Amino acid sequence: MKGRRLSGWGGVLAWLALASVSVALHAAPTATIDPVETRPVLQLDIQTSRLELTPYVSVYHDLEGQDDLAAARKVLDSGGFVPLPGNKTAFGFQPGALWFHTRMVNSNAREPRWLLVQKYALSDHIEVHTLHADGRVDTHVGGDALPFEARSIRYRTPNFWINVPPGPPVDLLVRISSQSSMQVPLWLYTPGAFAEVSRDAQFGIGLYYGILLALFFYNLVLWLRLRDPSYFWYLLHISAFGLVLFTLNGLGFEYLWPKSPWLADKAVPLSICLAQVGMQQFARYFLELRTRWRLGDLIGLAMIAFFVAWGIASIWLPYRIATPVASAAVFVSIAWIAIESIVVTARGYKPGRIFLLAWGLFLLGTGMFAALAFGVLPKTFITEYGVQIGSATEMLLLSIALSYRYSALRHENERIIRAGREELAQKVEQRTSELRLALDQLGHAHARLRESSQRDSLTGLHTRAHFMDRFQQLMTEAHRLHQPLSLLMIDLDHFKEINDQHGHLVGDECLRFSSHVLGQALREHSALFARFGGEEFVVALPGKDREAAMRVAEGLRRGLDQAPCETAGLTIHLTASIGVHQLDLDGSTQVAAALQQADDALYRAKAEGRNCVRWDVDQPTPAI
Ligand code: GH3
Ligand code: MG
Ligand code: MG
Repeated sequence: MKGRRLSGWGGVLAWLALASVSVALHAAPTATIDPVETRPVLQLDIQTSRLELTPYVSVYHDLEGQDDLAAARKVLDSGGFVPLPGNKTAFGFQPGALWFHTRMVNSNAREPRWLLVQKYALSDHIEVHTLHADGRVDTHVGGDALPFEARSIRYRTPNFWINVPPGPPVDLLVRISSQSSMQVPLWLYTPGAFAEVSRDAQFGIGLYYGILLALFFYNLVLWLRLRDPSYFWYLLHISAFGLVLFTLNGLGFEYLWPKSPWLADKAVPLSICLAQVGMQQFARYFLELRTRWRLGDLIGLAMIAFFVAWGIASIWLPYRIATPVASAAVFVSIAWIAIESIVVTARGYKPGRIFLLAWGLFLLGTGMFAALAFGVLPKTFITEYGVQIGSATEMLLLSIALSYRYSALRHENERIIRAGREELAQKVEQRTSELRLALDQLGHAHARLRESSQRDSLTGLHTRAHFMDRFQQLMTEAHRLHQPLSLLMIDLDHFKEINDQHGHLVGDECLRFSSHVLGQALREHSALFARFGGEEFVVALPGKDREAAMRVAEGLRRGLDQAPCETAGLTIHLTASIGVHQLDLDGSTQVAAALQQADDALYRAKAEGRNCVRWDVDQPTPAI
């Protein structure tokens, strides 16, 4: 493809420039044209297989678009055709029709048939007339206002077979009228040359759309897997941009809507608007504008609203209004996306860097194409295919940026989960230690409570309940160790009288005193000592047989007898009677029975005069 195809946003940019040129042309169509200059006759010789007609073409602008072939021929004969101004093939948006003329002489007898190709896909109506020396006229019509199958060859831009028999000169008259911008890069090919050229072009186009398609499906799969809306908008971006190029290249008409000249007409503004919606949405989601730059997000949304509205309006608006406005808005839109990515990247959003790079390459490619269109840069492979290279690289990079963003999001999620887990572990540990502390405190309180329930509040001695518990254990232990175990039952003598004479408080004091005296005396015997109730005490003596127990009891009795209680200025003499019983440890003895035995002995002591010790057997208690 040697022709300068206006495609991509570069084409869109160039359109704008051309639209302004057209204003100048329209105002004074002949002002820049030198009417004296005549065009050289085109020589088709054996060397020629493809050539651009521009240097050989002269033009006539039929402003009303009313002239037929006969009228145009009259203008031609009267010298009304002028060379293309500056050999430029682009005229911007033009009313009426443009007529182009060239005269050809074919000296190559082997190539009587040539293919005329209009390398701009969007022209609406094209009429091609070949005027032969014998007065014969061949006429063909084409353009995207006709169904695709009207074309001589199934090719994405209009083309016409023309006969140029060797020998006499043949005049070629081409009439073009179009709502789209008037671009007329006319080329002539021999059948063989065209086959080669179209093969290369199709290969390049196939490669480009192949990349786009691969990226599309790759990201489609990712979107279906990950459900991240960025991928969806990326898919829209890539499809809509692909559609714009597809339309501008004429491939849309060839493959997508060959039977609909109406759609071919509307496809350009529609696909431009759709592509901008896709791009803006993708940028919004990818750059996370909603949270990172609220104002930028709102402006982006406003642009989306504009493109949606304009896209819908372009269904009714004439092409010459819909497309230039959409193209102008594209300028603003893509510049705005560049600004968005710069701001978000500057605010520290890392995936924004790849986005910026991708967008930069895209703009560079587009810029190079535009510079080429304006003749600022020389035509090289890179400049000519800048848009394609730039956009393919951009989309590839954006695809990488998406995966980078995805992995950044995943890492962030993992970090949050890790941090959450650590925090949870910490909290659990803290709660556990708090719980442990509370349990400890509860344990202590419980122990204190138990202790206090085991102690008698008046004397501080163990209670009867505690005694019962422990005594059972002592019995088991004594049985196991084959050791004797004895019980003492102690009752203070005539205690009621003390209460009656001195009052209960003094009685209480006497109780406290006597329990203290008894306790002190029992310290050396590892005895279990408790207040049994009222002024009665009980003592278990592990390891002591009856005699030993008798001795201990006698010590207790004597100790109390010899130590009067001094309280409230009184000296009160206290005595106690004590019953002694040694348990029969045959494994069947019951606590209650043992206590009864000791109590019986106590009863004996009371009966035999008090202030004495007795055991429970029938024999008299030996003197100790
Ligand atoms: P004896 O045992 O020698 O037969 O005569 P006693 O007066 O001690 O007889 P009894 O066992 O019937 O009376 C016990 C008295 O002990 C009755 C009660 O007033 C008194 N007493 C019991 N518990 C307490 C106490 O906690 N404080 C005071 N102050 N007196 C108590
Ligand atoms: Mg009593
Ligand atoms: Mg008593």
